Amino acid sequence: MNAHFSRRTIFLILWYIFPMLVIGAEREISSAPPPQWWKGNLHTHTFWSDGNDFPEMVAQWYLDQGYNFLALSDHNILSQGQKWVSLEKADRSSSGDAYPKYLQRFGGHWVEIRGSREEGNLEIRLKPFSEYRALVEQRNRFIMIQGEEITDGADNGMSIHMNATHLGDLIPPPGGKTVKEVIANSLRLVQEQSHRLGRPILFHVNHLNYKWGVTAEDLVGIIDNRFFEVWNGVDDDEDPGDAEHPSTDEIWDIANTLRMATFGAPPLYGLATDDTHDYHGHSETAKPGRGWVMVRARHLTPESLIKAFHRGDFYASTGVMLKNIDFDEERLAIEIEPVEGETYTTRFVGSRRGVNVEGVSRRDGEGNIIRTTLDYTSSEGPQIGEVFSEVTGNLPTYRMEGDELYVRAIITSDAEPAVPSKEFPFKRAWTQPVGWARWIESESRN
Ligand SMILES: [Zn+2]
Ligand SMILES: [Zn+2]
Repeated sequence: MNAHFSRRTIFLILWYIFPMLVIGAEREISSAPPPQWWKGNLHTHTFWSDGNDFPEMVAQWYLDQGYNFLALSDHNILSQGQKWVSLEKADRSSSGDAYPKYLQRFGGHWVEIRGSREEGNLEIRLKPFSEYRALVEQRNRFIMIQGEEITDGADNGMSIHMNATHLGDLIPPPGGKTVKEVIANSLRLVQEQSHRLGRPILFHVNHLNYKWGVTAEDLVGIIDNRFFEVWNGVDDDEDPGDAEHPSTDEIWDIANTLRMATFGAPPLYGLATDDTHDYHGHSETAKPGRGWVMVRARHLTPESLIKAFHRGDFYASTGVMLKNIDFDEERLAIEIEPVEGETYTTRFVGSRRGVNVEGVSRRDGEGNIIRTTLDYTSSEGPQIGEVFSEVTGNLPTYRMEGDELYVRAIITSDAEPAVPSKEFPFKRAWTQPVGWARWIESESRN
């Protein structure tokens, strides 16, 4: 009887009193929060453009999966003002799933409709940012950040998509003659708005290999652009490249090396994102949960996160989680958060000083020039994106030899991601380039 009573007491404490203590502690805003890793996705779609779910449902999915921040980034639109989606469109794009699930989850008091099902003109209101954020946000647990996918094309027919995160006003696609011009024009609009509104806006270039739109050379000369997607969860966006086009990982190394060697400019930082379009499991192409970033910051606020992005204090992941990344000019030391039964292989890659930066055009089987990143492998000597070392284990470390322009790490597990994609079979993480600051400083002094 006694034993039963004490078990019951312990149960009550764990179930009711402990959570109350935790919630009580959360009411206090700390004056000195320690830096911690926050999980987020900056690229996803909803009914505001071509995603197939309501914004609150999308936010709820990410909140349930333990994400801490989320930007809904629809094509050339912000979730502001009045917008209604027809039941017909909602049904068509989600095989009839989206509306009933939305109604069941948030209830008839929240869901707003007009027209009638009988007359075939039923429409459902899409809630704007200010409304859905108030519904789902929780301090120190989950925030929403306003996003837009600036969806543009160059006069030569190439498509270029770029995300602006934490913007205040819509940025219409500016266009341009070349891919480079479109990126530069868009970035300029982002910078102008950031200055005008007095708020940081994160700019990044999306899925470089989608329709083979963006090359390494396009990214080299736009020095103020610091971010791009090394991994985008959509299956048909060609992140791994093919026989005629380099992978996004190879493009990263080429762009970094050319930026540093040619302009004395800092390297690019790489993000992973979902770019979700389908939330109901009807299509394998663009599912949620495939790619995210882990950002180390003290506060879960857009400003604090964006500062950390600019410090390079984040990594991209499709499943491998890291406890710590530590760089002190002598060595890059990584501590993996191990999952039992998994083995981790880390490749430390980068380029050395004196590397060949003269590229030649790639050609197809008939000798025609392919519009893609140039080939830099033809000459002797140190190569771009050299694998400096490859190690297995949970504590991979790389000791600098002295002539590296930069080094970064790609950590691969032997286990499948929780949400597999057809483009790569294993979980990975990418850390940001380090060891470059001394060269940039010395280049600019000369
Ligand atoms: Zn896109
Ligand atoms: Zn997208």
